[in-house]
Amino acid sequence: MPWTERQQTLLRAIGLRVWAPPPVAPPALQVLPAAAAPPEPVARRPAQAPAPAVAVAAPAVAVAPAAPAADDGTGDADERSRRIASLDWPALRAEVAACRACALCEGRTQTVFGVGHAQARWMVVGEAPGEHEDRQGEPFVGAAGRLLDHMLAALDLTRDPAEPDARRRVYIANTLKCRPPHNRNPEPGEMARCEPFLMRQIELLQPRIILAMGRFAVQALLRSSEPIGRLRGRVHRYRGVPLVVTYHPAYLLRNLPEKTRSWDDLCLAAQTAEAAEAAEAPTRP
Ligand code: URA
Repeated sequence: MPWTERQQTLLRAIGLRVWAPPPVAPPALQVLPAAAAPPEPVARRPAQAPAPAVAVAAPAVAVAPAAPAADDGTGDADERSRRIASLDWPALRAEVAACRACALCEGRTQTVFGVGHAQARWMVVGEAPGEHEDRQGEPFVGAAGRLLDHMLAALDLTRDPAEPDARRRVYIANTLKCRPPHNRNPEPGEMARCEPFLMRQIELLQPRIILAMGRFAVQALLRSSEPIGRLRGRVHRYRGVPLVVTYHPAYLLRNLPEKTRSWDDLCLAAQTAEAAEAAEAPTRP
């Protein structure tokens, strides 16, 4: 999105980096080797892009191999994961709505599947529904969600599922699809049982960039318990998809100075998405 001169002056005046899409595809920078063999890549669109023209760092900690399938006590976890991995969008949504794989189903008003265009180029992954999300059935609709929307709007991005411009589309989903009671932290068993849903959403979406917001999204996608501050500022990969780590918007509401860093992270994500776009462009019909 081109900022006006006045907007650019204002942003610089308050110490924020001004982001603008590169006028031409930048030369490819060095892609750093991964520390460990990456997990199996997500199936890409037929016109698969070469590596984006930004430096891609290996995770700070070893990324575990593929997640162990959630043990549901019946030994059917692998079978469940395999079945979920074969679902299309409507079937996946129905599966989530009917899910009773953990005790969170007892307290929910409804499941919170995700929102946005099914062919969005950006994917934002948060933690879990809160009270508002549980009531409305949509992720990030409370105060943290308003902040997220403002940050996305600053990059000319929108969660509107009817957005016609592919470059503006964002899909938003959570690590957990049900609200934990009293907004407590997700438990490992809950995350494991919900994980096949998020994995399938990413496979179906095939985003150009994933923005992982907060430590539970990072745990789910990077298998890392490193602090956000150690993981942000560089590009990771989830099954071949570039992934940028940033603070959770609820944390930003309590720690306003971190907003500047988060804005830097969004700019890095935007730059990475642009690079992926540019790299794909010549092969697109
Ligand atoms: N926080 C999240 O991580 N997700 C939501 O949907 C709402 C708040």
